[in-house]
This record gives sequence, C-alpha cells and structure tokens, in this order.
Amino acid sequence: MTAKMKAAIFVAPGRIELAEKPIPAVGATDALVRITTTTICGTDVHILKGEYPVAKGLTVGHEPVGVIEKLGSGVSGYTEGQRVIAGAICPSFTSYACQDGVPSQDGAYLVASGQCGAHGYKATAGWRFGNIIDGTQAEYVLVPDAQANLAPVPDGLTDEQVLMCPDIMSTGFKGAENANIKIGDVVVVFAQGPIGLCATAGARLLGASLIIGVDGNDHRLGIAKQLGADVTLNFNHCDVIAEVMKLTGGRGADSAIEALGTQATFESALRVLKPGGTLSSLGVYSSDLSIPIGAFAAGLGDHTIRTALCPGGKERMRRLMRVIESGRLDLGLLVTHRYKLDDIVAAYEMFSHQRDGVLKVAIKPH
Ligand SMILES: [Zn+2]
Repeated sequence: MTAKMKAAIFVAPGRIELAEKPIPAVGATDALVRITTTTICGTDVHILKGEYPVAKGLTVGHEPVGVIEKLGSGVSGYTEGQRVIAGAICPSFTSYACQDGVPSQDGAYLVASGQCGAHGYKATAGWRFGNIIDGTQAEYVLVPDAQANLAPVPDGLTDEQVLMCPDIMSTGFKGAENANIKIGDVVVVFAQGPIGLCATAGARLLGASLIIGVDGNDHRLGIAKQLGADVTLNFNHCDVIAEVMKLTGGRGADSAIEALGTQATFESALRVLKPGGTLSSLGVYSSDLSIPIGAFAAGLGDHTIRTALCPGGKERMRRLMRVIESGRLDLGLLVTHRYKLDDIVAAYEMFSHQRDGVLKVAIKPH
C-alpha cells in the first residue's frame, strides 16, 4: 500500500483544493523533502484564476523549505534529516541552456528525444515545481536533480527567514542585478509587492544612492522605506515621471526596475530613464507591450531592456541565505500571515484579494 499525503492541487479555474495523493517514489537523482514551510506566490494566483494553465490535478506551489526525508541513490553530500531549501526554479544543470548561462530556460528534460531534448532550451521551463511537476504546497515534494538543487539551511536561520529565498528574494535581486546598478546610481522600482520590495532591497545592497519606490498602496510604500527606498511615490497622488525628473534635476534615472507586468508600469519605467539607462523587467505580462517611441528615442537612446526568470540552483540559494545569515537583510517582515496546509483554500482567498495588508503567507503542513 502506498502512503498518502495532503497536497493542494489545481482542480479547475477558480478552484485549488486540498486532496490526497501518494507520497512520490524517489528516483536515483531525486530527493524527497518533507515540507515544513512553504508559501503562496502571485503566480499561484494566476494559476488559480486560470490565467496561467497547468495540468488538472497538479500540486501547486514552488517555494520549498523542509527536511530531507529520503535521498536518491545517486545523490551524495547530504544527509537524511538535514534542513534544506530548493529554488523555485530547479534546472537540470546538464543541458546546453544551463551551460550557456541561462539555466532558468532549461528544457533538457521536457522531451527525451525531440526538439527540447535536442538542444535543451525552453523558455521558462527551468521552473518545474507547480508548473511541470508536482509542487510544494503539500506534505512532501520530490526535488528533481537534487544534487544541483538542494541547499542546506544554515543553523540558526528559521524557516520563515529563508522562506523568500526560493523565489521572491532570488527574483527581486535578479531584477536589481539586471538593472546594471553602479555605486551612486539612481534607481526607480515600479510596484512594491513582495518582488518589488526585494528589488528595492537588492538595489540598496548594490550601492544605489537614491532609490525611489513607486506603488499605489501606502502600506507597501512604508515597507519599501524599511527595506531601502529613500523616497516613495504613490502614483494616485502624483505624476511619477515628473517627480523622478524633479528628483534627478531633469537627468532621469540610471535604472528602472519593473515588478508588476503591465503596459503602464513598463512604459513608466522607460519614461523615467536617462538616455543610456537600463530597464530591468521582472513582471509577468499577459498582453502585448508597446514601446513609446519618444521615451525610446526612436531606438537610438542607448537603452538596455533586460528580462529575467528567477535564478535557481544550490549556489544561488546558498548566497541568498548568506545575505540573511550575515544580517545584511531581514525579510522576515514580509511574512504577515500564517496558515496550516489544511486551511490553504482560506489562505488563497485572503492572499488573492490582498486582504488585511497581506504581503506573504507562511503555509505549514504541521
Ligand atoms: Zn513565484
């Protein structure tokens, strides 16, 4: 008889529900991790609403914090019972895409001997948990290519302290890294949800001298100040582009980070830039974008536009946990609500409507 576990699965648009599933069998390169804490991401809300399609019955969630329950026969250097995290993005680290420096776009495992298998690139397919394979909102999750993806949690760090590492912190920091920030730069961060907040924190760590956080929610702007924003602008009460130009003496920002995924924020991010500036985009867009030709200097402005998917892998996770362990940054204040896995439907309801000042929820199976 196969042992069973509880898991939150996608049933149909509007329905993510708790179900019983078999505890997965562990292959040679896998690790079975018993989840102690996970969370709900904005992307999961897109899945809930049917805006991002996943297979019916798939376990959702992509942020694992837990304990190694069982190691595959080919995985070494870890011990069962060890506390670990894994990135939301779990690449194989064996494909051409991985060796080409873009492991998040890894498609090696999708088709054994087809297009993807032939060259190993597939946009966004390094994201496996809760997308291609069963995810983390469950009692157990199977971590694929565990040797490359399991990252031991340093003693002394709590689950909630490292809960942002798998996705939010990695993504937000990537936005700052892609923004080409140099010491002394002016950086504008559009949207101060959890990812934008981490981008703001990342911009501070990279040495920006003026960080301007933009959002329509004063509570979130308050958190932005705590995490590194020098100035906050509520777009409901001011003309953000005019304010940025005023704050920079008409020069414009060196970099703008877009952390929402709408035409309005993308366009504003381009409009605040100096000629030669960098737009770093993190948003997930659901319709075609248009580029304002004036702000784009008709294509002659030496602008850089970069996009990214969250980086994964154990080295990325190790570095992020090190930032927390060293006291450079505390993201604990992003965890505003806590739920049992049994109550995950209520957690989705609250999180998806952004009630009660919620930023992130911690979900605990036990
Ligand atoms: Zn996510």
